[in-house]
Amino acid sequence: MKHQCEAFTGQSGNTSRCRATGAHEHDGKWYCRLHHPPTKDGRLAARSRAYDAKWSARERIREAEGAVVAAAEAWFLDGDKSVDGGLLYRADRLFRAVRNLLEAREARNA
Ligand SMILES: [Zn+2]
Repeated sequence: MKHQCEAFTGQSGNTSRCRATGAHEHDGKWYCRLHHPPTKDGRLAARSRAYDAKWSARERIREAEGAVVAAAEAWFLDGDKSVDGGLLYRADRLFRAVRNLLEAREARNA
């Protein structure tokens, strides 16, 4: 016996039963490949994971850019340019921040 998919398609108030053949059973009901709930959930979870990864890569880049600006400001604006006044420390901080930014950009493109 052939089953029809139990899912409904369309917007609220204008729905119709999916015409596809129900090939996968779930909780005693039959669904097509597209509407089978576990398959659908897996697809949504994968999409959400991809979105999270993309978002956090962008956040990391934004943070790294902020660190570069802060380090550059400390480098240029802090009055004391003597080595004892922390010049090397500030230079190191600036180079580190730039390196972090480049790494964050590379990680996004990987
Ligand atoms: Zn269906």
